[in-house]
Amino acid sequence: MEPDERKKVSEIKSLWIDIGAKDGDEAKERVRVGDVAVIDQDVLELPNGRIASRSLDNRMGAFVVLEALRLLSEEDGLAAEVVAVASVQEEIGLYGARGAAFGLDPEAAIAVDVTHATDTPGIPKNEHGDHALGSGPVITRAANLSPVVTDGLIDTAEGEGISYTLEADSRSTSTDADAIQFTRAGIATGLVSAPNRYMHSPNETVALEDLTSCARLIAAYVRSLKKGMDFIR
Ligand SMILES: [Zn+2]
Repeated sequence: MEPDERKKVSEIKSLWIDIGAKDGDEAKERVRVGDVAVIDQDVLELPNGRIASRSLDNRMGAFVVLEALRLLSEEDGLAAEVVAVASVQEEIGLYGARGAAFGLDPEAAIAVDVTHATDTPGIPKNEHGDHALGSGPVITRAANLSPVVTDGLIDTAEGEGISYTLEADSRSTSTDADAIQFTRAGIATGLVSAPNRYMHSPNETVALEDLTSCARLIAAYVRSLKKGMDFIR
């Protein structure tokens, strides 16, 4: 590579995958146009309860919602009916969340995602806020989120002694919450995220304690809901 090429990010159109085929016919026997590929990397356990893996964004969200549901399954007398959803295609247009929100038609919803951890070099805290691995759930306040659900999440974290940090978005949040909030006549939506290092790389890194704290927060919030509660303000 020329020195200036080394500084550039590789573009998709200049990449290829060598599958070892001897000619075009053999290649076509092995793969079809439109097949997808991922960088195959197992979960790597790091010290201090941290893990590195591809697609933690947003496989960790599936864990969080199921863990919240598991915690709530041990409760009697819940006022709310709760559904955990593992939606698809958030990254390419929030499509799965759209369909799930329309189909379930809930009174309120909480989207679960990752957000940029800012405790590595080169991530500006003045832009993203201060979210270290292990600092707990990140609760987002945004024009595109319900203040009722958001304040409820904050009050719950305070009441339960769950450490958390706040993030602010002046418009939308670039998560499933954007689609859910605008489904049907509008669904009151909150957003809970876990700090994630190296976003959208094959070595995304999170702290397991943040994931369980997110689940604990969501479960405690659901537990606090009363029958007939008004999510519109
Ligand atoms: Zn993402």
